[in-house]
Amino acid sequence: MLARRSWQHKTGQMKKVPWSGRVISIQPRIRLTRSFDERAHSYLGYCLVIEGTIGTEVRVFSIGIGEVTQRKHQCRVGDNASGESVLVPDARLEPVEFYRTSKLQVLHTGDGARQGPPPWHGVPPDLETYRGRGHRRLSARTYSSKCTSCIWGCRMPVKMIIDPWNPSLRYRYETFCYGPKSCQYYKPGPIRIVPGRRGMKFAEEDWVDEQDTAHRLIDE
Ligand code: SF4
Repeated sequence: MLARRSWQHKTGQMKKVPWSGRVISIQPRIRLTRSFDERAHSYLGYCLVIEGTIGTEVRVFSIGIGEVTQRKHQCRVGDNASGESVLVPDARLEPVEFYRTSKLQVLHTGDGARQGPPPWHGVPPDLETYRGRGHRRLSARTYSSKCTSCIWGCRMPVKMIIDPWNPSLRYRYETFCYGPKSCQYYKPGPIRIVPGRRGMKFAEEDWVDEQDTAHRLIDE
């Protein structure tokens, strides 16, 4: 990967970097904020994973787009896309490397929609649909091996507020599944532990996921 300064103007401002390639994944772009047993989601848009060229580099990279942009372009796995984006300033808060995308062009060759499921390809639903469905925790290993191209998978950057009265933050990534509870690939992985003040710990037990998705039937 090129040094960060190659993506910057001399003034320190981030450059718009041109990119193009084939869409190998599109998933929701959601940030999770945890404060012990409380959690809140920020719905940022969508995350495209592209196999192609970014600047002068040929590799796989990730691009953030907004919900309005996705509604207009209806991207899905298998499409060819191009645009210009900016390196994200704080990788702890974003699931993508580049965002603030402009000049997006999409050529619909989305043959990926004919595969599976699982994983589910095709055009992902709007963000309100994800919010309404709710998620279950998803094993990081299962996500990496089976779910990176599924529209129901999501790798969220997590900001953890350890002590609300003495601000201290920690960051990590967590993977989730918004898909049908009957998916044969699904594995929850270990229960997640959220650190709190004075060394306290909150264990997010299975009932949290069961409650979050209780309104869905097994195949929904
Ligand atoms: S476990 Fe979830 S994210 Fe993975 S393939 Fe199944 S529905 Fe998609």
